[in-house]
Amino acid sequence: MVKVGINGYGTIGKRVADAVNLQDDMKVSGIVKTRPDYMAFVASRKYKIFVPDAKSKKLFDDAGIKVEGYIDNLIDDSEIIVDATPDDVGKENKPIYESHKIKAIFQGGEDHELTNLSFNAYANFNEAWGKDYVRVVSCNTTGLIRTIYPLTALGNFKVRANLVRRATDPNDHKKGPINSIEPDLKIPSHHGPDVASVLKGLDIQTMAVKVPTTLMHVHFVNIIFDRDQDREKIMSEWKKYRRIVFVSGKDDVKSTGQLMEIARETGRSRSDLYEIVLWKDAVSVKGNELFYYQGIHQESDVVPENIDAIRSMLQLKGKEDSINQTDKSLKIGELVYGR
Ligand code: NAD
Repeated sequence: MVKVGINGYGTIGKRVADAVNLQDDMKVSGIVKTRPDYMAFVASRKYKIFVPDAKSKKLFDDAGIKVEGYIDNLIDDSEIIVDATPDDVGKENKPIYESHKIKAIFQGGEDHELTNLSFNAYANFNEAWGKDYVRVVSCNTTGLIRTIYPLTALGNFKVRANLVRRATDPNDHKKGPINSIEPDLKIPSHHGPDVASVLKGLDIQTMAVKVPTTLMHVHFVNIIFDRDQDREKIMSEWKKYRRIVFVSGKDDVKSTGQLMEIARETGRSRSDLYEIVLWKDAVSVKGNELFYYQGIHQESDVVPENIDAIRSMLQLKGKEDSINQTDKSLKIGELVYGR
């Protein structure tokens, strides 16, 4: 069992921690928290807690939450760190990992240049094999790569995608209440170049708006192939991949609210929806162009990717075995509703 330290126990960190402990080849050695908030109380029931510095230690001592030690102690007792701290904090942490010569995974809020290896299990598991530093791409980029990568079997293409982004996560009270739609004025939005950091050479342009919702993102994707396409062939390519699932408006699934309701009905931890969800009835082919909508559960789609990145970097299992094991542990692919 390899020991995995989790630095940053928020939306992503707590999910990755629980997913690590569901595997039979890895376990959580501890988590780093900065403040003794309610989530620290929750975490202290499951995990050893470490802090970054003496100031945090005093806060925890005053709150009566047991601290096992400092981040250096956690690193010394781990074989890899998953850094799930907020955007741009990972780059400040990297020198700490380098000085301890420990491998580390960063998240999509960091720039590609931090690791020069951006990761998606389907697209480039083998590129991360044995590597010291890897960045798992963001929730939106993971969603785009999951459904674009299978299409590489059908010819060359370019991608034009529009993203409707949730404004923030459900627990984030600081960014609400809100009542507006906010276009990303940088075109392409960072998602297109981010996809191309994994699917190298892909011609992809993306635009994005943020809307006042917390549940999920929705993408409208247009793929322009170099040859005419057949809808059934596209569907059968996608169906080879468990991390993509289909729903149908005919079954009255017409919104992200209903997708979250389906996730709740599966009884999964935190109602997580690790798969990218495509509306089957809207998948349309006109000559050489493909159009589709997809839903992305931003809080959870990157979780299986982190598990597979750990296996690749520590050379624990090959691509197929790792993905199969991760999927089985998280019950990915069991949600076959609407196929
Ligand atoms: P979050 O704010 O929910 O959690 C971050 C946690 O790290 C918080 O508990 C915070 O208190 C803690 N923290 C802050 N500074 C720290 C430090 N110096 N050391 C240790 N812990 C520290 O953030 P998140 O949404 O989990 O995002 C983490 C990363 O994952 C970011 O790079 C983000 O872009 C990426 N990501 C987020 C989402 C999402 O939708 N939330 C999806 C995919 C990827």
